Amino acid sequence: MIWVDREAKRLKERNLPQEWADDMKTPSGRIHVGSLRGVIVHDLIYKALKEQGVNAKFSYVFNDMDPMDGMPTYLDSQKWGKYMGQPLYKIPSPEKGFSSFASYYAQEFIDVFNSLNCYPQIIWSHELYKSGKMDLIVKLFLDKADKVKEIYKNVAKAERAPDWYPYNPICEKCGKIGTTKVYKWDGQYVHYRCEEKMVTWAAGCGHEGKVEPIGENGKLPWKLDWPAHWKVIGVTIESSGKDHMSSGGSYDMAVHFCRELLEIEAPDAMGGYEWFTIGGKKMSSSKGIGSSAKEVASILPPEIFRFMQVRTPIRTHLDFNPYGDTIPNLFDDYDRCLNAHFLKMENALPVGKIGEVNADFARIVELSEVNPLPKKRLFVPRFRTVANLIKSKNDNIESFFEKQKKEALTDGEKKLLKERVVFAKIYLEQYSEKNQHTDIEVKAFTANDLQAKFLNRLRENLKVVSTSDKLAAQEAVFTAIKQAGIKPREAFTAFYQTLTGKPYGAKAGDLIDELGIDKTIKLLDESKTDKKVENTTLFPTLDKPEIFSIDPEMAKKYPSINIGIAVIRNVNIKKSDIEFKAQLKEFIKTQDNLTNETISSYPEVLTYRKLYKEMGLDWHSKRPSPEALLRRIAQKKELYEINTCVDAYNLVVMKNRVSIGAFDLDELKLPTILRFPKAGEEILLLGDKEPTKYETTDLAYFDKTGGYNIYFNYRDAQRTAVTENTKNIILNIDGIYGITRQQVERSLKESIDIITKYCGGNVETVGIVTA
Ligand SMILES: [Zn+2]
Repeated sequence: MIWVDREAKRLKERNLPQEWADDMKTPSGRIHVGSLRGVIVHDLIYKALKEQGVNAKFSYVFNDMDPMDGMPTYLDSQKWGKYMGQPLYKIPSPEKGFSSFASYYAQEFIDVFNSLNCYPQIIWSHELYKSGKMDLIVKLFLDKADKVKEIYKNVAKAERAPDWYPYNPICEKCGKIGTTKVYKWDGQYVHYRCEEKMVTWAAGCGHEGKVEPIGENGKLPWKLDWPAHWKVIGVTIESSGKDHMSSGGSYDMAVHFCRELLEIEAPDAMGGYEWFTIGGKKMSSSKGIGSSAKEVASILPPEIFRFMQVRTPIRTHLDFNPYGDTIPNLFDDYDRCLNAHFLKMENALPVGKIGEVNADFARIVELSEVNPLPKKRLFVPRFRTVANLIKSKNDNIESFFEKQKKEALTDGEKKLLKERVVFAKIYLEQYSEKNQHTDIEVKAFTANDLQAKFLNRLRENLKVVSTSDKLAAQEAVFTAIKQAGIKPREAFTAFYQTLTGKPYGAKAGDLIDELGIDKTIKLLDESKTDKKVENTTLFPTLDKPEIFSIDPEMAKKYPSINIGIAVIRNVNIKKSDIEFKAQLKEFIKTQDNLTNETISSYPEVLTYRKLYKEMGLDWHSKRPSPEALLRRIAQKKELYEINTCVDAYNLVVMKNRVSIGAFDLDELKLPTILRFPKAGEEILLLGDKEPTKYETTDLAYFDKTGGYNIYFNYRDAQRTAVTENTKNIILNIDGIYGITRQQVERSLKESIDIITKYCGGNVETVGIVTA
């Protein structure tokens, strides 16, 4: 069952006569694509409820009485500046044909979400006020201003002045709503001043007056406006971005206003939804990626855009970086789900676990529907192939797919192909590999140790080269290559990345000449301060096989292995520690919204699962330690309390999701080694009575006595367990595949810090052993 059906099932159980899902937005300019997540989340819950036979409604509120409080960069501030502070629905539209500024930008957004098959009832906030439906609530809040202030103080820790009242009238003289302050309420009129300096973005006119707080004379402040809308509309479900969901935040406040003043239950927020970001940024200003809903939605067919939203659980962060392979992968994923839909129609879903997964896939495609889904199986031309054919200038794409299908394409298939051609062109022109922008390339470059050494040498060598001596500059480069002992190709990559931001460039001497010696040295210096600090390793590469090494056979099979090692002596391990418990509690608090889906999306967790698969293990029954610990948190189970050493490093495991093990050094017979077990080797695991036989494909740590852990820190041996009697320990941090040396180093540092904080001790040996 997918997330939205689970939520719908849960909500159905409350048995309300009507469920009303609602979302809202202030149309203060082009609406950012991130706001589409809310629209789709509510559309999905509305549809899922209706399917379950619940009487459901869905609306979208545009808060168009809000003041213009910022100047969009694409508007001429000379022309638009005078409207700052006025309510958006009274400001003229930037284009003809719209009743206001608000309606123009709202309509652009409405068009986008309509195109994604979301059709909520649109509610304009100013019409709600104008109708008089808000009047009684406004009066209630004014009458109970003291109670309102008490809630501000208790919940948001915000003190309001004694003469503060929760209402913003529109100034009768200058028309602004963002600058007025009510200082008196006499039961019929609010008395207000239009303040010159109340806000930084607009200046009031100084007018003083009184007005009845009814109709569209003014509005409630946002935190009260929100629950007032809920009551008037009858909203029972409203989720929002996590910025509103914090303790003391807008939603928390609104819950109190509902209960203590409005006498309603606040809508169910489904725990709030996580961000939808573009290329990792909430607001993307990168060249090429527009940030408005209209721009981003236009680069994908609507059902693919919807699909990306539907399949992402509500409390999982969704990031869409359209560059590289993202778009072709997204189409592939969609096609896989579409195939499941076909299987379902054909009553051919496989049985068991795979069948369940496929049923979910089919459900995701069904909820992603924009245009009616095909009534029977279609031949689906793969997007990636379409793009490749266009790239290779194949001008008969249709016949290519007919050959592949071994039959003529049907009209439906031709239509699908035509659509994919359109979007493949957009993809090729803007987002395929060759279009990656410089900022992304620069970010992708991180100098390794040797490259950093080379760049340092080069900088020193260039200091003695005189300006405009191209030959000497060229010579300086080659000398630095020799000094650093680096392969020329690697050195030149670092050279060009540092000086041009690209992996290639003009001949070295010419490039230095073109930049000038001083500029070159400056660029090399900068690379030292910003990039290199980040790239500099925290710990040396450890070459002490008398303590630990990686078996060559293991290194050959898994060349990506990086193991962090530390020997800490004279630790004092206790049962528990009050300060640590507080630190742990603090961390658990931040994981309140953690779900198994989120855990399954962490790249580190996927990495260990990949390894488990490689070892032939079923990661459903054997969960790598970061996953096992986090799942307890997600399921709100208590964590096991072992001792101050194990508990402390487990916190680092949960934070960084990189697995860590600590062992009693005095119980180990050095040297230790990471190797494949030999046939017949066994391990007596902590908590077990019978030994477990290793498979010869397992990854395991051994000392001279035998194995002391299994599957790369899945479980440890009894004989080397860290207890309150342990005095000296050895730590291993397990890096493999995508878990890089940098991540291993970070976990190594943090586990040393936390262990020495709570258990004391001195670090004797520390470093990284790489395959
Ligand atoms: Zn005024």
